[in-house]
Amino acid sequence: MPGKSALAARFKRIQFLVCDVDGVLTDGGIWLDNLGHEAKVFSAQDGLGLSLARYGGLQTAFLSARESKIVTQRAQECGVQLVMQGKKQKGPAFHELCLQAKVSESVTLYLGDDLMDLPVFERAGLAVAVANAVPEVKQAADYVTRAAGGQGAVREIIERVLRAQGSWGKVLGQFLKNHAAKN
Ligand SMILES: [Mg+2]
Repeated sequence: MPGKSALAARFKRIQFLVCDVDGVLTDGGIWLDNLGHEAKVFSAQDGLGLSLARYGGLQTAFLSARESKIVTQRAQECGVQLVMQGKKQKGPAFHELCLQAKVSESVTLYLGDDLMDLPVFERAGLAVAVANAVPEVKQAADYVTRAAGGQGAVREIIERVLRAQGSWGKVLGQFLKNHAAKN
């Protein structure tokens, strides 16, 4: 892991946040019923965090090796601009997302939890493992969140980025103002 001040500088530069889905936006559980219908559980706090990221001027994306309509729906709900699914080769997919977002990989933060995320860790400006990530991924990460996937890890990292950029207070103020009760 980089030193504390080097790490802070890298958080400060971030313009684009890319999240793996299973194990990062969820706890990794995939609910399947007898008819093959799938369900996932997301964190409402992460959802609000993704809105705050937008207020703070960050672009956001989901990147998944699996494919599910649920992920598209969740991205829409959270105002996440870019979604890439069914990508077993996550390194090139990550590169493509950065091209679409028109930002360099060096100002992009990637959140992952499992081995398929390691090729992205080599490219991302900041490689972040969630608390429930496998040991190999934690070891390769620049930073490990306190919260686990599906339990606020995404929210935690968004707050960390916005605080590093000095915009957390302003973002909260704007958000609360826009959501204040209007008579
Ligand atoms: Mg995963």
